[in-house]
Amino acid sequence: MVYLGCHLSSVGGYCAMVETAKRIGADTFAFFTRNPRGSKGKKEDPQDAARAMEAMREADFGKIVAHGAYTMNLCTADPEARAFAASVLEDDLRRMALLPGNYYNFHPGSHVGQGEDAGIDYIAQALRKALAPDYPVTVLLETMAGKGSELGGTFGQLRRILDAVGDKRIGVCLDTCHVADGGYEIAADLDGVLAEFDRVIGLERLKALHLNDSKNPMGSRKDRHELLGKGHLGLEVFQRIVTHPLLQGRPMILETPNELPGYAAEIALLRSFIKS
Ligand code: FE
Ligand code: FE
Ligand code: ZN
Repeated sequence: MVYLGCHLSSVGGYCAMVETAKRIGADTFAFFTRNPRGSKGKKEDPQDAARAMEAMREADFGKIVAHGAYTMNLCTADPEARAFAASVLEDDLRRMALLPGNYYNFHPGSHVGQGEDAGIDYIAQALRKALAPDYPVTVLLETMAGKGSELGGTFGQLRRILDAVGDKRIGVCLDTCHVADGGYEIAADLDGVLAEFDRVIGLERLKALHLNDSKNPMGSRKDRHELLGKGHLGLEVFQRIVTHPLLQGRPMILETPNELPGYAAEIALLRSFIKS
């Protein structure tokens, strides 16, 4: 089985997200650890987190997938801004201690003209610094569309980051829109793309997926998400993904342009594929 969910607003806290998830038929979810535009973290509420963890255990949820802020660029050029991004990562991971055993996913970063090598170096430095020996979550690098100077647009770049950090506990979150935009033929050849992922990164590192169709054709490097089946990927690949033997057990998160009723409908659709 796979776990299905979507991005939820964290405004009401963790228990509220669990309740919302249950209401829309989800058994996992994602949320931003802080305002995606700003950088301020919310006040921590250990009781709310503990109650949410218990509620998720009772409802047989899969792991949830927190998402770092889009504005957190670990390899930006300005040293002060870079140090600030690294401190945001540290603070996020420290906060994740309230949700032990779950995932923290983030965009590796954009090297903004400094080049791939420098960018990978900065990302790895920040991760090595932030990862305490006993940190209680698994950090995931997201596969990116390769827009602008974004790193993580190829499996090879992700491999290089993983190697540079040298910490076996780091995983990858595969975003279907991003890999298609990055030039991987996921709709036409899911098995081929998974084999390539396995060869370059290792499938054991693939911990979670983002399920999004793409508004743009393969290789466009644009990163514009579309409703499942309404974009260039088409619906069939999502049926293959949720039923794929190599992808079982993972949380799969919708980041499609939807409000809650739309997410509920997409989750129900995906569940119907699993049953049929
Ligand atoms: Fe993302
Ligand atoms: Fe994503
Ligand atoms: Zn995206």
